[in-house]
Amino acid sequence: MRRLCVIGDPIEHSKSPLIQNAMIEAAGLDFVYDARRVAGADTARWLEQAKKEGYAGFNATMPHKEHLVPLVDVLSADAAQYRSVNTVCIREGKTYGHSTDGVGFAQALREAGMEPEGKRVLVLGAGGAAKAVVLKLAQAGAARIAVANRTADRAARLCALTGTDRAQPGPFDTEALKRQAEGAHIVVNCTSLGMTGVAGQFEDLSFLRELGADAGVYDLIYSPAKTALLERAEQLGLKTANGLGMLVWQGVYALEHFAGTKLDGAALAAAARKALEGET
Ligand code: NAP
Repeated sequence: MRRLCVIGDPIEHSKSPLIQNAMIEAAGLDFVYDARRVAGADTARWLEQAKKEGYAGFNATMPHKEHLVPLVDVLSADAAQYRSVNTVCIREGKTYGHSTDGVGFAQALREAGMEPEGKRVLVLGAGGAAKAVVLKLAQAGAARIAVANRTADRAARLCALTGTDRAQPGPFDTEALKRQAEGAHIVVNCTSLGMTGVAGQFEDLSFLRELGADAGVYDLIYSPAKTALLERAEQLGLKTANGLGMLVWQGVYALEHFAGTKLDGAALAAAARKALEGET
């Protein structure tokens, strides 16, 4: 049995062991996956320990994703662009850092019937998750990406990172959101507004009325399964999906990296969803 785990602090809430073990079983792989609490100051120490203990790899969540960037031996193109690593493979003592957040998001978006190529997209938020989302949307050929964020310079920095003027920062107040939503095909919520255990909700959801009739709303949040944003979008007859797909697909791609081979993604995603359903 080859060992895998997820590291983070806190880590108790992580769904990764449940998802990964379900997929490992479905794929018939020889891995065992658990969770380890590793403090933020200990990323480098953990990397050495993981090699010594014979780990085949690990996933990383807060606060290690950025710390790992300068520590791994080889960085994938996505990880280098996002300056974030969520998957580390260890082969013959060498460490390979990947980020599967962007590809996971892109696959989940397509699965939800929201193909971004040539589309106008409104992204709400400019934090860590928004970075992978915005950069992947730019890469996937979105025609316009409006990034609305409460803290203006964070949105401006994120748009600059894309290296294209198709991404434009904007404010987060009600009137500005309405302007930015006008004629948009897809809205992606990357803020924590509406998330279980986090104070704060959207003050006003009237910007959803400005979207085109065939538009879709993707909320990165999956707990609760239906946020107020998704509820309102559904009432308006828009396509909706929560962040479960992104969570599941970033895990599928991580497992492909660990296994070093392409796997049956749809079957693995189905196994992960089943495990998650069984839990609630
Ligand atoms: P983060 O880096 O802390 O960013 C939080 C974002 O929310 C920032 O843009 C922040 O704006 C905004 N925000 C927070 N409170 C706000 C308020 N009261 N009003 C307006 N904006 C507010 O967090 P993150 O890691 O990007 O995560 C964001 C969300 O995505 C979380 O709900 C997380 O669970 C979810 N997520 C889901 C997946 C998945 O697989 N489905 C993956 C990653 C993250 P400022 O810049 O102004 O602070």
